[in-house]
Amino acid sequence: MATAVLRNRPVSESEWAARQELAACYRIFDMLGWSEMIYNHITVKLEEDGAFLINPFGLHFSEVTASSLVKIDIDGNTLDDSPYPVNRAGFVQHALFHRHLPDAHCIMHTHTTAGMAVSSLEGGLQPINFYACNFAGQIAYHDFEGVTVRDEEGARLLEHLGTKRVMLLKNHGILVMGKTLPEAFIKHWSLQRACEIQLATLSMGTPLVVEQAVIDVHQRDLYMAQASVRPGEADFAAMVRKVDKIDTSWRD
Ligand SMILES: [Zn+2]
Repeated sequence: MATAVLRNRPVSESEWAARQELAACYRIFDMLGWSEMIYNHITVKLEEDGAFLINPFGLHFSEVTASSLVKIDIDGNTLDDSPYPVNRAGFVQHALFHRHLPDAHCIMHTHTTAGMAVSSLEGGLQPINFYACNFAGQIAYHDFEGVTVRDEEGARLLEHLGTKRVMLLKNHGILVMGKTLPEAFIKHWSLQRACEIQLATLSMGTPLVVEQAVIDVHQRDLYMAQASVRPGEADFAAMVRKVDKIDTSWRD
C-alpha cells in the first residue's frame, strides 16, 4: 500500500518505515559519536523487492533523512531518481554480504576509534569485560588487504566470516549484521562498549581475563534472557526518543 510519494513515485508503507528506521539509525550513530566524516555505511534490505537503502554519499550521518536515503540494487545502481550519489566502492562488501547471506537484513560498518584500535591489536577483542564476554568465540577476523573495494577479496571475507555475523576487520574496524536493524544496532553498541572498555583497561595495566567456564555461563544466561524479547528493539526505541530531542528532521 502506497502511503507516501517520493520523487514523484509512490513509496510503500513498508519502504517508508524502513527509510525512517534507517534514517533514525544514522542520526543515533552520530549522536553516539560513531560517524566518520561522510564515510561508512549502514544498509538495509527492502524485503518486498530485494532492493537496498544506503546513505547518500556526501552527507554527514547527522544530515541523513528518510527521503534522502538512496534505493539501490545489489550492484549499487540507483533505483529511485535520487539526486544524491552512492559511494559504490563502499557498497562493494555490503553487496557481497547482502547477496550471499539471506539473514543479513541490516549491515553496519564503522571506523570508531575503539573499534579500529581493538581491530588493530594482536589478539583482537579479549574476554576481559562484561560486554566482551558476550562476544567470546563469536567474532570473525579478516586481515587487512587495503581499502575494501576489490571484488576478489570477497571470497576470503565470506570464508573468514563463516557462520559468524560479527567481524573485526583487522586494522580497519567493526562489521556487524542483524536479522533486523535493532538487532544489528544492539550488537554494534555492545561491541563498541567492549572495545572502549578494553582500550581503557589495557591503558592501566594487566587485565583480569575471564575463565571460559564463566564465559559459558554468561552466554547461556544472556542468550536465554534474550530469547524472549526482540533483540535491541527497546534499546533502539529509547535512542530514537533521545535523537528526537535533538532534531526530528530525519523523519522527513
Ligand atoms: Zn571501512
